[in-house]
Amino acid sequence: ASGYSLLRDPHHNKGLAFNEKERDSYYLRGLLPPTVISQELQVKKMMYSIRQYQVPLQKYMAMMDLQELNERLFYKLLIDNVEELLPVVYTPTVGEACQKYGSIFRRPQGLFISLKEKYIHEVLRNWPQRDIQVIVVTDGERILGLGDLGCQGMGIPIGKLSLYTALGGVRPSACLPVTIDVGTNNEQLLNDEFYIGLRRRRATGQEYAELMHEFMSAVKQNYGEKVLIQFEDFANHNAFDLLAKYGTTHLVFNDDIQGTASVVLAGLVAALKVVGGTLADHRFLFLGAGEAGTGIAELIALEISKQTNMPLEEARKKISLVDSKGLIVKSRIDSLQHFKKPWAHDHEPIKKLVDAVNGIKPTVLIGTSGVGRTFTKEVVEAMAALNEKPIIFSLSNPTSQSECTAEEAYTWSEGRAIFASGSPFDPVEYKGRVFVPGQANNAYIFPGLGLGLIMSGAIRVHDDMLLAASEALAAQVTQENFDKGLIYPPFRNIRKISAHIAASVAAKAYELGLATRQPQPKDLVKYAEHCMYNPAYQSYR
Ligand code: NAP
Ligand code: MN
Repeated sequence: ASGYSLLRDPHHNKGLAFNEKERDSYYLRGLLPPTVISQELQVKKMMYSIRQYQVPLQKYMAMMDLQELNERLFYKLLIDNVEELLPVVYTPTVGEACQKYGSIFRRPQGLFISLKEKYIHEVLRNWPQRDIQVIVVTDGERILGLGDLGCQGMGIPIGKLSLYTALGGVRPSACLPVTIDVGTNNEQLLNDEFYIGLRRRRATGQEYAELMHEFMSAVKQNYGEKVLIQFEDFANHNAFDLLAKYGTTHLVFNDDIQGTASVVLAGLVAALKVVGGTLADHRFLFLGAGEAGTGIAELIALEISKQTNMPLEEARKKISLVDSKGLIVKSRIDSLQHFKKPWAHDHEPIKKLVDAVNGIKPTVLIGTSGVGRTFTKEVVEAMAALNEKPIIFSLSNPTSQSECTAEEAYTWSEGRAIFASGSPFDPVEYKGRVFVPGQANNAYIFPGLGLGLIMSGAIRVHDDMLLAASEALAAQVTQENFDKGLIYPPFRNIRKISAHIAASVAAKAYELGLATRQPQPKDLVKYAEHCMYNPAYQSYR
């Protein structure tokens, strides 16, 4: 290959880091200015230039440009500055990027599969890489808390997969972002002249199911049984069904349901080390009974039933959920969506959250409704009156939708709340003490879980693997973290955390007979670390 094309190949380009010998051997003489610099200096220079941008979307675009110019440098930057750059390549900035995708779109970084594509098997063959290990797929109907963004949801699979690589060490060439375009019901997009997707309303029913089925079949045919397919940001009326339908035939995982559940359970397990008692000793109340709420509730019930040998139905009774119509109770059962039915307990109807708190007397209150300002002073005070150390998680995103702020949780509970949130909050000082709120970020779990599945050659995702991931994450919280009020470990150690999660997930896969990589590696943590992609430049000879 010519030096000119080498400089334009993001997988091999090193820019000014090509050394003298490489410049001789690869016809690069004259194509680069004479100075040779290290990758470390390139990182420093890029960080300097990214910090010049005031607007988050500009930082995002600079990162995307870098990914297309020099892939290793992109990942080195992201890994070395994970706390600073995570909000740039992922939430919240990626949300804005999706909203404006039509006008910032330059070069496709993933596969678009629309109703126009008749032979999906052949579409997959157009992708340059053959050896795919992880696919993140969305249909764009419920992007973050932003709703239906249609084809512009592509930013999400791209962002998630860059975290698979940076945080979980999956090779970039083994990652495939996919957007399924069945139309959009977003009027604004349908009328936007820059919109990049199909200009029609969403296909539903059989037309939708057939396209999804052809996709799922083509994926298995092309990449085999061990390719991980992560469903991302599907609306809940499809998400639960897709997971149930393909869970028995494919290696599938829904991050909004299962990843959220695993990361929140980890936070609860860690919180109990501060609050005391076992999960079965606690009572849980949720505001919001969708993918996140019922997903978390189900995993808590499963863990309680494992710990105590209690039947799952009994364990579920420790958990109550409130949706937009009030407390989920037996008398509503006929009109409930099927994923809510297991949570319809015998109880009188209650409309208001504060009444539900006082009626049910939960020790743990979790917000997953997507509606902000719903944990009012009254609600938090009620929790604080009932509990010495109330556990309060405000998980709705973005920040504006958080059920309450960290400051409100600590102030209204007189510094007694154990608090975590979906969106990040700064530390809070209250009566001379500094409280550091935890962030229940899904990025703690899915990269390590994915690595664990891949390195063991798992063929199915089992709930016990999600429980194993939760326990592994909770075990990474140190006494020093607890002393600051943290129930999640700091993100800067995420590669180490991911390796531990991967090892626990892989161990579970072997135990359950779902692993195909034989023999089982002796030290799974070491093996996970060994498998992880390293973005340092390789020397070409
Ligand atoms: P979803 O499937 O659409 O569920 C939303 C639920 O909230 C539904 O049950 C809905 O009730 C209920 N709801 C809506 N308005 C309400 C109100 N005013 N009062 C009470 N309940 C109300 O959405 P999701 O995927 O679960 O996501 C929900 C939120 O969780 C989002 O903000 C998301 O960002 C956040 N989340 C956070 C994390 C994290 O922190 N790691 C992970 C995932 C999701 P109906 O069923 O009656 O409509
Ligand atoms: Mn999501």
